[in-house]
This record gives sequence, C-alpha cells and structure tokens, in this order.
Amino acid sequence: MSAKLLEGRPLAEKIKEGVKKDIEALKKEGFPLLLSAVQVGENPSSRVYLKQQKKASQELGIDYQIKELPSQITQEELVNFIESLNQDKKITGIILQMPLPSHLNARQIQVKLSPLKDVESIHPLNMGRIIYGDNKISPPTAGAVVELLKSTGQDLKGKETVIVGHSEIVGKPLSLLLLQSQFSSPTITVCHIATQDLTFHTRRAEILIVAVGKPQLIKADSLKEGAIVIDVGINRVPVLDEEGRPVLDEKGRPKFQIVGDVEFEKAKEICSYITPVPGGVGPLTTALLLRNTVECAKFQKTSLT
Ligand code: NAD
Repeated sequence: MSAKLLEGRPLAEKIKEGVKKDIEALKKEGFPLLLSAVQVGENPSSRVYLKQQKKASQELGIDYQIKELPSQITQEELVNFIESLNQDKKITGIILQMPLPSHLNARQIQVKLSPLKDVESIHPLNMGRIIYGDNKISPPTAGAVVELLKSTGQDLKGKETVIVGHSEIVGKPLSLLLLQSQFSSPTITVCHIATQDLTFHTRRAEILIVAVGKPQLIKADSLKEGAIVIDVGINRVPVLDEEGRPVLDEKGRPKFQIVGDVEFEKAKEICSYITPVPGGVGPLTTALLLRNTVECAKFQKTSLT
C-alpha cells in the first residue's frame, strides 16, 4: 500500500481565501485587524515563527506588530502590559509567545489575556468552551489536525483513535475536539510519556496522531495497516549520508533537515493517509491562527454593538 499524502497547503489556501474575504468585509465596516505578538527576552526559534506569522498576516491584510520586552521583566509588569493591550481598541488579537523566562508564571499571565483577543485559544474560557462544543476558535494546531482528518472524507465514528502527546496546545484540546459529536465521535486514547506500552496502542490505531517532538519515535512496524497518520512533530536533525555520517554544507557546517515523529518513508507504505513533515500540519496551523484572529475581531465587534 502507498499512502495518500495529506498536504496542509491546499487546505490552508482555502481557509485563507475565506479569511481574506472576512477581513475585507470587517475593514469596510470600519474594523481593521491588528495582531500584537508579545516576545519576552530573546529566542531564535520564536523569531522564525514571528517572522512567518507576520508575513502570513500581512498577506491577508492583518496588521502585525511585535512587542519585544526585556527578559528580566517582572510578573506584575508583564500582566500590566498584557492588560494595556487588552484595553487598546486598535489591537484585535494578542499572541503571547512561549516559552516565557522561567521566573514568570505563564499560566497566571495567560489568564490575564482578554478571551476576546485570545487568538491562540489558550485562555481557560476558550478552552472550557471546547468541552461544551460551543467554541468558535480552538488552539490552531489541534484545529489543524481536525481539518486534516475531515479532508480525508473518512467516517470517524467510533474509530480507534490514538493521540500520542498530551500537551495543552495539541493533545488535550484535540481529544476534546474529536469528542464533540454526541453520537459519531471516534474512540479516543491519549498516550504520553508515562504510557507503559506505546506500541500496543499505536498498533491498534485506525487513526494515529503523534505530537511529541522526538524524531522516529513511531516506527513503521508500530502502525496498523491502512491507518490514517497525522504527524504533528517538528524536529531539526542533521542530514546523514548512506554511511550515517553528517552531510556538510559548502562552508563545512553540518546540514540540517526538519522531520516529524514518525518514520515517514517506511510508514507511507503501510498507512492509507499520512501527513508530510514539513508541509502537513504546519501550514494549516498558521491558517487557523489567522482564522481565529478574524473570529476574535468578530467577538469584539459583536460585544461593541
Ligand atoms: P510538549 O513538549 O508540550 O508535549 C510533548 C508530549 O509528548 C507530552 O504529552 C509528553 O508526555 C509526550 N511524550 C514525550 N515523550 C514521549 C514518549 N517517549 N512516548 C509518548 N509520549 C511522549 O510538546 P508540544 O508543544 O505539544 O509539541 C509536540 C511536537 O509538535 C513538537 O515537535 C512541536 O515542535 C510540534 N508542534 C508542531 C506544530 C505545527 O504547527 N506543526 C505546532 C505545535 C507543536
């Protein structure tokens, strides 16, 4: 069997088209969008994300600003800063870039975000709505997995679904999103670092979602024939030659590549659908962040009228 590739880009483009129309309509009604990303201290990988978000936002007509704060900022100062963004009527969405320096309590700061501007859907109110199935937004990566599953057109009802990883931005909200239908949800198992026999679970998974951050964690022989596999992991690993030696670039530095958590090349011979990494979940995550940004602007507009 050779799996169908579940590429995120075509779906992302479709979502962005809808988002763009909504943005234009909101602008016409005198409601331009401004996304404000808060970066505390220096973090090179955050910088890459911020750059990507800025480009994607601006392409769709969302203004994007980065607020850089010193790493030694106190909890109280950061809370005050977030509250000033909440109050600022021009700002329609806020991103609090993670991780924060270790002296800050991230959860206590997330709670201070206005739930109406919480484009990453991390505020407890927005998370809580997912339990009741009345959410208009969801954490973008978890939402991206749902969109990819829907795009297969397969009936998910009752299907043995295993999620590996129970983080607050992926595994946990994803399990709740998939359980929203009263009568046609899949059957969910969530595995994590303390799971005793991971392979036992992955081998019986008709749908497998892996969000861990460990390259090659899921070997092809731990998959069920015909499974749908969504690989959320992003790992930067050295490129190796056939003898296992690092491949060097023209300046003699080791070359790196991005891979997921699943042994992709062999896995694609076993499963029915699989996401590539990069190019699967990633592009959709950004599109859903922008869709959340529009939804948040609509919340604010409604709360004003
Ligand atoms: P996290 O570190 O918060 O959580 C990792 C999860 O993996 C935890 O639940 C942990 O218990 C589990 N885990 C760790 N080792 C395990 C093992 N050996 N067996 C089973 N479970 C194990 O990570 P996260 O923020 O959820 O991100 C997970 C991965 O997804 C990372 O590679 C991250 O870069 C990637 N990610 C991708 C996107 C995207 O847009 N594609 C977005 C967010 C995160």
